[in-house]
Amino acid sequence: MTFDYDDRNIFARILRGEIPNSTVFENDHALAFKDIAPQAPVHVLVIPKGPYVSLDHFAAAASADEQVGFFQAVAEVCRISGVDEGFRAIANTRSHGVQDVPHFHLHILGGTRLGRMLPA
Ligand code: AMP
Repeated sequence: MTFDYDDRNIFARILRGEIPNSTVFENDHALAFKDIAPQAPVHVLVIPKGPYVSLDHFAAAASADEQVGFFQAVAEVCRISGVDEGFRAIANTRSHGVQDVPHFHLHILGGTRLGRMLPA
């Protein structure tokens, strides 16, 4: 599997400051911002600052510092969002996963009971 990153995607543009976002948390390696079309009371996207197209690309190729920084951002988002009763983390990936934006992002959804993961 090879991974080709195209920096014309909308999250790359957000990282370059070309379009605004509603930032929840940021560190050296990750940015977290509110999803523009929320599907739950809490709906935050956590993205690495590096050029990774997907979760499997990030897991295979990101440095240890990048991976730690990313998951520290996930922890902060969960703390800030107050999802103590639970949440769902989703990484839609490529065509079968119905991924729209080809820059790895983890959806953090919560604030209500979300129902089953997939339709029965
Ligand atoms: P996915 O289908 O997993 O690639 O999800 C992409 C997500 O990005 C969707 O939930 C969109 O609502 C969200 N999105 C697209 N553009 C923006 C934007 N400019 N700011 C915040 N979220 C966005």
